[in-house]
Amino acid sequence: MAGKEIESQLTIVDHPLAAHLLVSLRDRRTPPTWFRAVTKRLTMVLMLEATKDLPTRPVSVVTPLEETSGRTLIQPLVVVPILRAGLGMLDAVVELFPEVRVGYIGLERDEATFQPSEYYAKLPPMEDAHAFVLDPMLATGGSANAALDSVKKAGAQWIRMVSVVAAPEGVAALSQAHPDVGVITATLDRELNAQAYILPGLGDFGDRLFGTAPHD
Ligand code: URA
Repeated sequence: MAGKEIESQLTIVDHPLAAHLLVSLRDRRTPPTWFRAVTKRLTMVLMLEATKDLPTRPVSVVTPLEETSGRTLIQPLVVVPILRAGLGMLDAVVELFPEVRVGYIGLERDEATFQPSEYYAKLPPMEDAHAFVLDPMLATGGSANAALDSVKKAGAQWIRMVSVVAAPEGVAALSQAHPDVGVITATLDRELNAQAYILPGLGDFGDRLFGTAPHD
């Protein structure tokens, strides 16, 4: 899988399937049923990139014909979706890695200051884990940074942030606060607007996922 690295911390997944799925998410006509299905498929593509260097250990295996060697993943993995939009990415991770431990962080953003505040957190043990934080829209970076603070406080030492759309402002804020956290995304968009929405973006991810967007 081709991942274009920008300043080593950001990886934009450069794959025809990722591009194809992203266009569908951007399209304002895509209804929530389809938006959910496409989010899941795109997250699978992103996760393949985000996990491409996970450690494995050698194992031997007996096929119906003979013994051979292979490799197996070294668990544990932890995934932490940021509520609520991150929930749309969770199924894909659980399907790819059924043993993954799942934590949750709920953040609300103040619509005037855009500052996040945490209203819920339930995190599994993470000291020895590879942790993935899911937030589809890396906009100001405020929510991502607050979630990364919590995940680190819970003991995580190896963390990746997986998003669908990233804004330059969000990537800059994250790399300043958490230079050790790799970011995997499908696109780096142009900028934020005055309401901190990403342009061109895809609108409010949570609204589009859960069908709570006001009708056109
Ligand atoms: N959150 C969203 O859902 N969309 C944006 O464009 C920015 C933040």
